[in-house]
Formats: sequence, C-alpha cells, structure tokens
Amino acid sequence: MRILITGGTGMVGSAFSRIETHHELNLVGSKDYDLRIPKHAEAMMFNYLPDAVIHLAAKVGGVSSNLNNMSDYFSDNMKINMNVLNEAKNLSVKKVVSLLSTCVYPDKAVYPLTEEQIHNGEPHYTNFGYAYAKRMLDVQSRAIREQYGLNYITAIPNNLYGPHDNFDLENSHVIPALIRKLYMAKPGNPAELWGTGDPLREFTCSDDIAKILLLLVDNYDDPSPINIGSTEQISIKKLAYIISKKLSSTNYISNYIKWDTTKPEGQFRKPSSNLKFRKLFPDFEYTDLDEGINQTIEWFLSNYPNIRGIK
Ligand code: NAP
Repeated sequence: MRILITGGTGMVGSAFSRIETHHELNLVGSKDYDLRIPKHAEAMMFNYLPDAVIHLAAKVGGVSSNLNNMSDYFSDNMKINMNVLNEAKNLSVKKVVSLLSTCVYPDKAVYPLTEEQIHNGEPHYTNFGYAYAKRMLDVQSRAIREQYGLNYITAIPNNLYGPHDNFDLENSHVIPALIRKLYMAKPGNPAELWGTGDPLREFTCSDDIAKILLLLVDNYDDPSPINIGSTEQISIKKLAYIISKKLSSTNYISNYIKWDTTKPEGQFRKPSSNLKFRKLFPDFEYTDLDEGINQTIEWFLSNYPNIRGIK
C-alpha cells in the first residue's frame, strides 16, 4: 500500500523512518506543502495518489503558546484538517487515519478517559482552540464515512516523546523541557521546575505511535476514535530523577532541581483507558519508558545544539 504521511518531518513523523514496514511510505512536511492552503493539499494528493493517508500535520505547542495564540491554533488546525480530509475525499482515498490527543478530552471528564467522552463538554481552557479543532477531525471523519462510504478513522495518543522533538523552553512538552532544563542545570544554578513534581502523567514513545498507526491502517475500521497510548503513569518528580541520572550518572537530583511550588502544576492525574486497543491488539508491546528516554537523550546529546527550539 502507498501511504502518504502528513507532518512527516515532525517528532512523530520522523519515527516512521525508523520502523520496518512492507508499505511504501511518503513523508511530507510544511516546506513541501502548506496544508492551510487548499491548492497545496490538492497538489499533494495528486502528486502522491496514496492508497491511505496518515494525517499528523498540525500546529502543535506547549501550554503558554496555546494560551497566547488560541485563535491561530484553532484556525490553522481547522484549515489543515479540512483541506487534508477534503482533498483525500475528492480523490476517493480509501483510508485516512488522523491523530488527535488526550488533551482534547473534556476538562470535567470521568477517569480514566474513554473514547465515548470526547465531546462531553469543554476542553481545558489552556488548549481550547487546539482541542476543538482536533475534535472536529472526529466529526469530519465520521461525516465523510457516512456520506461517501470512505474508511476514515481517528486515534488518540497521550503525551508523546522521542527524537526530533521541539526543545524550545517556552513551547515544549514535558519530557523535552525536562531534558533541556536538566542538561543546562548545575549546582548553584538548578533547573527551575513548576509545582511539586507529584502529579502523575502517561507517556508514549513516538516509535510506538508510528507502529500503532500502521497497525490501524491495516486493521482498524471503526468510526469511533481509539485511545492508543501507554497507560503506565509516572510522577513528574520521578521522571526528572530518571532524566537527571541519565544525563550524568554522578548528578544528584537535589543539587540540580528547584521545585517552584508557587507555580501551577495542573490536575493530579489524567489517566486514559486503552482497553479497546488492548482487546484488539493484545500482543502489542509498548517501549519501556526508561529505554525510550535513553534513546531520546542519546539523540539529544548527539545532535545538540542543532535541535529544533535550540538553534
Ligand atoms: P511536531 O513535531 O510539531 O510536527 C508537526 C508536523 O506538522 C511537522 O511535520 C510540521 O511540518 C507539520 N506542519 C505544521 N504546520 C503545517 C502546515 N501548515 N502545513 C503542512 N504541515 C504542517 O508535532 P508532533 O509532536 O510530531 O505531532 C504530530 C501529531 O501528533 C499532531 O497531530 C499532534 O497533534 C499529535 N500529538 C502530539 C503529541 C505530543 O506530545 N507531541 C501528543 C498527542 C498528539 P514542518 O516541521 O515541516 O514545519
């Protein structure tokens, strides 16, 4: 099968180049096609004539960027998604797998997060624009399926990490922010981390997501979204400790970290359920967090400072 991957230059997209598959993969980024522009999306579909699309392209950012640019996160992502799915539909591309995120679930949800709750109330205000645009991927995929009989599905991962992430201090997610801050920390100049470090979060490595998305291309045809993340939870404090130890085995965490408890740290836990995924793919093995972080740190150290968000 010829599969076109939008967002192929990003953190998740780049994981596909490390995965073995019998499919032909074509990865594209924003320099190839600006998918906010309908003509670019149309040209992309015509140039590749894919059998299936894995749609990852999105404007992605951390909490402060989402808060300060709420309208752009909404409109850019709406445009990208509308154009990609419409042009795929116009060419009768049989399958499109689009990626959502557990942060699009309602703020007041029942835990663990299950797929049927996705539209049950407003998302957290910090990512209001991004979350609503992402939720519309579910609406558009199901509407196209209903009207045109095409097999368009959506998958929901939790927090992701891996090589080629964005390490910008203002605009990165938890793991790249911790790696960068702890890399720069020294005794007397500790990494300042928000909150107590007690909240629990789930993380899935980008290589696992790439493998799962290919599994879904071949084996998942249900209109309803599917949670695909690893549900192992870890505290931010333990994560910081693991990263700190890996960056230098002689580092001792208390010298290097200052927890600023005056700063907010979000909900204590936000667990998701991957029961549906587990039932369908009981043999899938997620990468151990320790091993995934090792790979990410190795990549960071061997590419520093030529890394997105640093240079
Ligand atoms: P990323 O590293 O920021 O990559 C985003 C990708 O989208 C890049 O390839 C980028 O291209 C492309 N893109 C952005 N704007 C575009 C535009 N206007 N036209 C065409 N392409 C555009 O993000 P990621 O972390 O890999 O995220 C991939 C997907 O996973 C996204 O849909 C995201 O919502 C979802 N997700 C991510 C996380 C996470 O923790 N990172 C968690 C849950 C879900 P260039 O690099 O060439 O500009």
